[in-house]
Amino acid sequence: MDNDRPKSFPQGEQLPVPYELASLHAHQEYSLVQVGGISIGGSKPAVVAGPCAIENMKQALSIAWEVKRLGADLFRGGVFKPRTSPYSFQGLGLHGLHILGEVRLETGLNTVSEIMSIAQADMMMKYVDVLQVGSRNIQNFELLRCVGQMRKPVVLKRGFATTIEEWLLAAEYILSEGNDKVILCERGIRTFEPYTRNTLDLSAVALLKTLTHLPVMVDPSHATGLRELVIPMARSAVAAGADALMVEVHTNPETALSDGRQSLYPKQFEQLMQDINLIAPLVRNKRDSRNESVGVSPALLSA
Ligand code: PEP
Ligand code: MN
Repeated sequence: MDNDRPKSFPQGEQLPVPYELASLHAHQEYSLVQVGGISIGGSKPAVVAGPCAIENMKQALSIAWEVKRLGADLFRGGVFKPRTSPYSFQGLGLHGLHILGEVRLETGLNTVSEIMSIAQADMMMKYVDVLQVGSRNIQNFELLRCVGQMRKPVVLKRGFATTIEEWLLAAEYILSEGNDKVILCERGIRTFEPYTRNTLDLSAVALLKTLTHLPVMVDPSHATGLRELVIPMARSAVAAGADALMVEVHTNPETALSDGRQSLYPKQFEQLMQDINLIAPLVRNKRDSRNESVGVSPALLSA
């Protein structure tokens, strides 16, 4: 690597990065994000699981109890859904938030749900423990500033066409409002390949661990669109150094109002949990001898 460095960047010199607060160089230590008693970025990968969308109380509670029993740390479920078509199910809105509140009360699982606009901020405060900024909103700068001010942990999904630098700069918007509880979530990018919904960029996971102190999550469900691919991609994500996984699970995916095709059956989720419990200790013991910050820039890569 060093031999490939252009002359203008002498060995050992750090390249300036535009995302100062997010950079590993400035921080030196990997950050932990705490949600209730759960640590994201710690010695064990955290697992967020649940349906794509909250559909009704019975559906949400039955999935939540299943994923809790199988070892999930947090419950996910969208109530404001960013759908490609305005005619598709848009989520239950405030009623869905009430359901999330009930799930938290009954199961004790903290909740993760997507905020799509600033107008939703007040109602989300009460029912949602981790705010999700979705792929389509990663450069909604007003929303980023808003979740920065809300001071709750934020899962910041990568846009399907954003570079790693744009993604880190989006994180910088949240951090610069004084909210340091940001988790980056790789969920696949759009490529020329139509057989999968997106293309999971696992190199981004390993690279981010050299660029930023922020914990990195991987969502193999939206990355692939196919439940058959979710377990192998989840295993690979943990092997690549992911600090957390976000997985869609449904007790009856055939009738799901969104993303049924990529939702795991509880039995498959059980398998996934067993697999990552085997893989994670092998990978994460090595994490203490941290990689040097490589300060990659397009200039370096093309040199
Ligand atoms: C989701 O997690 O429900 C979602 C819509 O994901 P993304 O923003 O990654 O498409
Ligand atoms: Mn979904």
